[in-house]
Parts: sequence; C-alpha cells; structure tokens
Amino acid sequence: MKLHILAIGVHPDDLELSAAGTLIKHARMGQQVGILDLTYGELGTRGSAELRKQEAQDAAKVMGLAVREGADMRDGFFVNDEAHQLKLVHYIRKYQPDIVIANALADRHPDHGRAGKLIADACFLAGLRKIETLLHGQPQEAWRPTRVFHMIQDRFAEPSFIVDVSDTHTTKMEAIKCYKSQFHDPNSDEPMTYIASEGFLNAIEARSSLLGKRIGAKYGEGFVSENVPGIADLDRLQYPEIA
Ligand SMILES: [Zn+2]
Repeated sequence: MKLHILAIGVHPDDLELSAAGTLIKHARMGQQVGILDLTYGELGTRGSAELRKQEAQDAAKVMGLAVREGADMRDGFFVNDEAHQLKLVHYIRKYQPDIVIANALADRHPDHGRAGKLIADACFLAGLRKIETLLHGQPQEAWRPTRVFHMIQDRFAEPSFIVDVSDTHTTKMEAIKCYKSQFHDPNSDEPMTYIASEGFLNAIEARSSLLGKRIGAKYGEGFVSENVPGIADLDRLQYPEIA
C-alpha cells in the first residue's frame, strides 16, 4: 500500500500529541495516511504494552488512518545503528511515502531525539539503490521521501512552518484521550507521572493555541524542516490579520 504520509513516532501517543491535527486534516482530504510506532512504549510508568497497542488502534480509528503498524523496537534501548536503520528502510520502501513526519531532533525524553535522527537517516538511506532489502522474499525498490518534517514535542523549537489545524483540533483531542492509561484520570490509582498531571493536556491545548495565533488561526501545529521549504508563489500563505 502506498501512503502519501507516513508518520513515524517512537512511542504510541507521540504523534497524537504533536501532529494529529495535521494527520487528520490530510486523511480528511482523502489522502492515505499511516503511522509506524517504533516501540509500544513498554517502559511507560502507567499501563502496559498490550493496553497501549489497543489504545493506539483506537486513536488510529479516530484519526481516520489507513494503517498503523509497530516496528517492535525496544523502548528506551533502541539505537541508531545499521540494524535499526535497515529495519526502517524496509518500512519506508514498503509504504513509499511522499512525506515523513518524525520525532523531534532533541527533546526532554532522550528517545525522541534519537528516534528523530534514526528516522531522518533511514529516509536518506532508503533512497540508495545499493542497499538491498526484501519484502515477502522479493527485493524492494529504492524510495526516498521528498519531505521529512520533525514534530515539536515537549521542548519548544522554533517551527519552520505552522499548519492551521483549527478544523481538526477537537478530533485531535479525542485521539489523545484514547490513551486512557497515560493521561489525566482522577479515578486512576496508578502512580502520578509528568504526562498524567492535570496540567499536561492543558499545556498541549495552549501550545496549539499559541502556534495558531502566529498564523491568524485558532489552532496550529508547528514542524521543523532541516531543508528550507520552498513555496510555489507568494499568495498561498496564511498570516495574522494586519489590522
Ligand atoms: Zn514519546
């Protein structure tokens, strides 16, 4: 199956928190959008890998994804080496995405930065014909996504561009709330964590609101591109009202 956008995150819920508004938007445009979770977040303090797999599939339905798959890497201990790069090359060639959305290149959680670099490296390597990978015993064709964008996660980073997600923000928050084991629940008797505090989801909404304000929209999601994005002309850009 060819995807227009393949979003790759190291923990299930990474993409929901930082990019779901954009993914939902493109899925609603009728494009094929999918997610690859590198791990199942099995080191998370709350819940279990099994529970998070189920929550991730529930969130995929809310977002309207064509596919959501796991790469079975080890939470906390995966590395950016040849074996992990080849595994990702296999998935990138399998789905042939035009756009890849990846983890941030540096963040509070060290997995995020390591995954961000691993994903970017694999996107480049997937385009080299002499790297041979197989799918169902058949050699895969080389494929390089034309656009690789990094999410803004816990630590703020100045975005290269901001997507107006005003029309998909409500559905994004529904997708986030599918992770019942992870986020604020006053009735939970599991240990309190950074992301389970009451203020965490409020901070996600506040971030979306502040990014939206910068482009004259109610809500926005920012992305970092290592390449400077070009534009076709000067007219199709969105800015705050001048008045
Ligand atoms: Zn994460």
